[in-house]
Amino acid sequence: MRVLVVGAGQMGSGIAQVCAAAGHTVSINDIDQAAIDRGLATIRRNLSRAVEKGRMQASEAAEIDKRIAPTNTPIRSADAELAIEAASEDVALKKRLFRELDSTLPKSAILASNTSSISITTLGATTNRPANVIGMHFMNPVPVMQLVEMIRGLETSDETAAFTKRFVEQLGKTPVEVNDFPGFVSNRVLMPMLNEAMFAYMEGVGSAKAIDAIMKLGMNHPMGPLELADFIGLDTCLAIMEVLHDGFGDPRYRPCPLLKKMVAAGHLGKKTGRGFYQYA
Ligand code: NAD
Repeated sequence: MRVLVVGAGQMGSGIAQVCAAAGHTVSINDIDQAAIDRGLATIRRNLSRAVEKGRMQASEAAEIDKRIAPTNTPIRSADAELAIEAASEDVALKKRLFRELDSTLPKSAILASNTSSISITTLGATTNRPANVIGMHFMNPVPVMQLVEMIRGLETSDETAAFTKRFVEQLGKTPVEVNDFPGFVSNRVLMPMLNEAMFAYMEGVGSAKAIDAIMKLGMNHPMGPLELADFIGLDTCLAIMEVLHDGFGDPRYRPCPLLKKMVAAGHLGKKTGRGFYQYA
């Protein structure tokens, strides 16, 4: 199948890799050439590591690499059967991209979004094919994580849901279907916990290391909440909290002021080298 991935950041590059590994022909698009270069470099690093560890033949890695074509031209040139949008978590941007995808891709194409929290119903309503619009929410890092949260908008058809389920299973992942509410299930449960850890840090209840150690050693979480927030990207965390806050109109979802301040300063976590921790 021909798959178009829009956005070549940490998620888009991972999605492109797993789609190509499953035999699909992938076109990966980003407005930022540097993001494409970084994304392709990450994919090649992952493939070489798999070869070194004996999990893949060198010839297989080369085939996967060959199936991924980068493009920074406007997405109107694409003619994919499935688009997976993984651009920044910004509702205005995603609406614009969905309008563009709708006007340029074949009428039968499925338009999926990897959004962490934005309404699939809203994205569907910007198109003339809301029945073909669905949430395909991969987890980070994409090549490693088993779950894909599948989100049905109000108008998503049974056919689109069945197609998506088959596609995700063919990637070797496990789809779990939920309905469209702010943050779906994953980030409605996860993100308020990360936000609360940020409040605890801001209020001086504990150091970042102490807060993370408590959740790792005490609750058996593989990563502490502050290191996980850095890993996800603090801009993405803030955008998700804003969707929850606006969507539910409930003050319990107010984003931590320190999170807002760090994003304003450009300290976005691992991807910019500085967040709650410093990165080389
Ligand atoms: P990122 O910042 O690493 O990448 C986003 C990319 O989108 C950037 O390379 C940017 O240049 C590109 N972009 C912006 N405008 C564009 C446009 N008009 N056309 C094409 N590309 C454009 O972010 P990410 O972490 O990869 O997140 C991408 C999406 O995945 C977001 O919706 C996010 O909520 C979601 N998501 C993130 C995580 C995570 O842990 N980071 C997990 C699941 C889902």
